[in-house]
Amino acid sequence: MSTVLAGHGLVKKYGSTTALADVDVEVRERESLAIMGPSGSGKSTLLHTLAGIVRPDGGQVLLRGERSETGATPAEAWGRIDNLGENRLSALRRKRYGFVFQFGQLLPELPAEENVALALMLNGVPRKAAVERARRWFAPLGLEGLEHRRPGQLSGGQAQRVAIARALVGEPDVVFADEPTGALDQTTSTEVVQLLTSATRDTGAALVMVTHDADVAAHCDRILQVRDGRISGHSQFTVA
Ligand code: ADP
Repeated sequence: MSTVLAGHGLVKKYGSTTALADVDVEVRERESLAIMGPSGSGKSTLLHTLAGIVRPDGGQVLLRGERSETGATPAEAWGRIDNLGENRLSALRRKRYGFVFQFGQLLPELPAEENVALALMLNGVPRKAAVERARRWFAPLGLEGLEHRRPGQLSGGQAQRVAIARALVGEPDVVFADEPTGALDQTTSTEVVQLLTSATRDTGAALVMVTHDADVAAHCDRILQVRDGRISGHSQFTVA
């Protein structure tokens, strides 16, 4: 499997705190990668740096395949993204990345289907087409019939499934999930992580997920252990 996203020699400091100290990480096509470690070890900083939200003080973030107008992806084109201007970086995040956060972060005033469609509309897809594409995600994620509910009328697990639809609807190359099950009970966590890993894999995207929950991480193909801003361990599962 080839690499889609890589961080080389990543360093991030906040004052006298070193959040990342020379981290190397590679994310392979279609794989799911869990990042685990104690609180304050640098997990979120690593995810945010790979996602183009936090700029590293040292090292590089490289993303494979700059899309051409036709959508063709030259296999070996690598783009360094940590030094892009803010506008290009935010366009890249919208077009090539999907995000799932701990608390869905859905817009409370919009029905579920419009929360999903909005991700496409921000990329220029007309409203009607965006809503149609958004609706297709509801049945596969077990959300049929909930299209018109507002986030306040959904359970925590349902809201996270809507957030998964929103992350995937734009066919991203990489999905980033920061404690996506952190606010859910154990049974709902398992359901959500199973859907997140399988739906992401089905679309061909890679998944990078921060979690403190070993049961959740065990659904991923690989686990990176982070400690004091460094990779302290690495395990691989054989997931079919
Ligand atoms: P984790 O996700 O493993 O809990 P973080 O990546 O959030 O760890 O944080 C790593 C270290 O960097 C911690 O010591 C944290 O306090 C510090 N840190 C993270 N973000 C900031 C910030 N915006 N300002 C100052 N310090 C920060």
